[in-house]
Amino acid sequence: MKRVVVVGGGLAGARSAQELRAQGYEGTITLLAAEEHVPYDRPPLSKEVLRGSQDDHVQLDVDWRDLEVDLHLGRPATGLREGVVETAEGDVPYDGLVLATGAHALRLKGSGFPLRTLDDALTLSVHLTEGTKLVIVGAGWIGAEVATGAAQAGCDVTVLEAGPAPLQALPVEVGQLTIPWYADLGIDLRVNTAAKSVQRKAVVLESGEKLAAELVLVAVGAAPETAWLKGSPVTVDHGVVVDEHLATSMPGVVAVGDCVARWSPRYDMRLRMEHWDDALHGPTVGVATLLGKDAVYDPIPYFWSDQLGHTIQWAGFAKGADSVVRRGEPGDADGWAFCWLAGTRLVAMLTVDRPRDLVQGRRRMTDGAEPDPTRLADLAVPVKSA
Ligand SMILES: Cc1cc2nc3c(=O)[nH]c(=O)nc-3n(C[C@H](O)[C@H](O)[C@H](O)COP(=O)(O)OP(=O)(O)OC[C@H]3O[C@@H](n4cnc5c(N)ncnc54)[C@H](O)[C@@H]3O)c2cc1C
Repeated sequence: MKRVVVVGGGLAGARSAQELRAQGYEGTITLLAAEEHVPYDRPPLSKEVLRGSQDDHVQLDVDWRDLEVDLHLGRPATGLREGVVETAEGDVPYDGLVLATGAHALRLKGSGFPLRTLDDALTLSVHLTEGTKLVIVGAGWIGAEVATGAAQAGCDVTVLEAGPAPLQALPVEVGQLTIPWYADLGIDLRVNTAAKSVQRKAVVLESGEKLAAELVLVAVGAAPETAWLKGSPVTVDHGVVVDEHLATSMPGVVAVGDCVARWSPRYDMRLRMEHWDDALHGPTVGVATLLGKDAVYDPIPYFWSDQLGHTIQWAGFAKGADSVVRRGEPGDADGWAFCWLAGTRLVAMLTVDRPRDLVQGRRRMTDGAEPDPTRLADLAVPVKSA
């Protein structure tokens, strides 16, 4: 293999370039990136960048010159044929291909700010000034994080959530426990309130009510960036379909990061993850597969969020869980956690302000641990000893 092309200039694309060199590949690497920015890190966009601090946080630890990567910024791939990536500036031939095109923010009818890119975050941060009336549609991870930064900047923040509680990705009884956090920061959270469309200075609710706003952020989720693969031999079904080796349906083509729908032998189902941890670690396996090695990517899922004065972390998958152990009580100064058990096995864990619990819990899940529920509930007992 002499020519590898990486499509996508996010964390997964950058990590793929690093892994190619780390795993001994000596041929050319061409990276096609739709954005004009050198690949950067996205989690700070809804956190530090909104507080006005950019460079230290978004910069990835990648020495592009040392990796000898031919970086093409502002050059999106537009199509794919066997051995050729198409772009508006001409075809780019490859022997091996990594797809790492991530995801894009979903929009509502009308206008409203999205938050996916550095440009989005910089534009948004300029508007987050004292007294600005901001309406955020969606109390998911990004909505909650932006609400935090905006409230700290003195904005008048309203968050609309269509469901009965924030964080719809989590069980509703957990999301409900975050409701008081909004009031603590003076944020007006309205659950069971669906937005229908966004106008220039207002949000129209499904009920017909019109909410005035100076700024509207639409944070209603993301979808894999795969439109450019339409008509190509790569199978796409809510993401680029890959097996546990991160191989696509096309020989010599792997996919990594937010754009994939990967097969998980661990959970016996296809998973769509939009987590930083997958973009960081998936490329080790995707590149190994591309280079003809035998590697499997099937970790215990992990993500975190810093919101409303708390750090929430999740590990595992609650599929098949039949009981929940509460570790500490919400409001405890030392934090608290929920642990899901399937029979006697620990299968998922959510921690609030207890990072050590999460690390130990994730390790125990990997080991197939069967903790004692009484000890697990006791904050004085480390998770690893429960
Ligand atoms: C605001 C924000 C905050 C987040 N915070 C957290 C967090 O706290 N914790 C957590 O676990 N995760 C978080 N995430 C998720 C995490 O950042 C993503 O999982 C990670 O960035 C995925 O990396 P990726 O490289 O797969 O995709 P992306 O970061 O989306 O990068 C893909 C890149 O490919 C480019 N591209 C798209 N199409 C093409 C094309 N046709 N040709 C060339 N280039 C193309 C895109 O422009 C983009 O630059 C956050 C995400 C966002 C947006």
